[in-house]
Amino acid sequence: MSKVVGRKIAIVTGGASGIGLAIVRKFVASNIYAIIIGRDKAKLQAAKEEFKENCEVISFDLNDLASVPALVDRLCKQYGRIDILVNNAGINMKKELTEVSDEDFQRILLTNVTSIFSLSREVVKNMLLNKSGSIINISSMAAQYGLPKVIAYTASKSAIDGMTKAMAVELSPSGIRVNAIAPGFIATEMSAKALNSDPERKQKVLSRTPMGYLGETADIGAAAVFLASDEAKYITGVILPVDGGNSIGF
Ligand code: NDP
Repeated sequence: MSKVVGRKIAIVTGGASGIGLAIVRKFVASNIYAIIIGRDKAKLQAAKEEFKENCEVISFDLNDLASVPALVDRLCKQYGRIDILVNNAGINMKKELTEVSDEDFQRILLTNVTSIFSLSREVVKNMLLNKSGSIINISSMAAQYGLPKVIAYTASKSAIDGMTKAMAVELSPSGIRVNAIAPGFIATEMSAKALNSDPERKQKVLSRTPMGYLGETADIGAAAVFLASDEAKYITGVILPVDGGNSIGF
């Protein structure tokens, strides 16, 4: 595999769109080889066309937990090691609390929490052999303060913050760092759906963001490159807001 010799290997879930795509762009620009996991074949194909020999794209539903070990095993055999895992794939659901069914709630938790746990567990088995690795989980402002109408999403992102700290203390002695990025309000399809249909909410978001505008996906990509790099070798267990000051806004 000459194309990966001397390069770090990163798995980026949801790396064919939005924030994940921006992370892959920054990774590839930093000479990191990206393994992109997603479901939408057209988006994966577009990513392959953009990153060419700097990436592999894999059509895989992360909710299929039973198939995760075989996938990771195949990747470890193929590439020899996984240096970086970015757990970015996630789904949102905006509904009044009383309208959220148990099935709705479980669906969000499955994608945003359980699948992250399963994938991380399998990748960590490989990182432990190498005594090195960097895991970056994508959290949200929903875990920093109370947001109405996103009860399941909030539960899931709060779980991610907790898992980040628990994984960091357990794995840091083995050379594996685990951090999270808490994006503020970033202009993507996901946030457009949540904000454009609700001008009052959008106004509220902007008014409590000291910088006064939505972030760009590249802002998250830049933070991910830093946390994944050896420059961040003494940083673990951190939930890093990249939010234009939103989390400390008045
Ligand atoms: P997108 O909807 O653009 O990206 C979500 C990605 O997750 C898609 O590429 C999607 O791939 C993938 N995905 C979802 N479910 C699965 C699954 N079961 N299996 C495989 N892939 C899956 O949204 P964003 O880029 O905005 O969100 C990325 C992350 O950032 C999420 O975790 C989100 O919670 C978080 N975030 C976003 C904020 C924002 O303002 N945009 C703010 C705070 C956090 P596919 O379409 O192929 O299924």
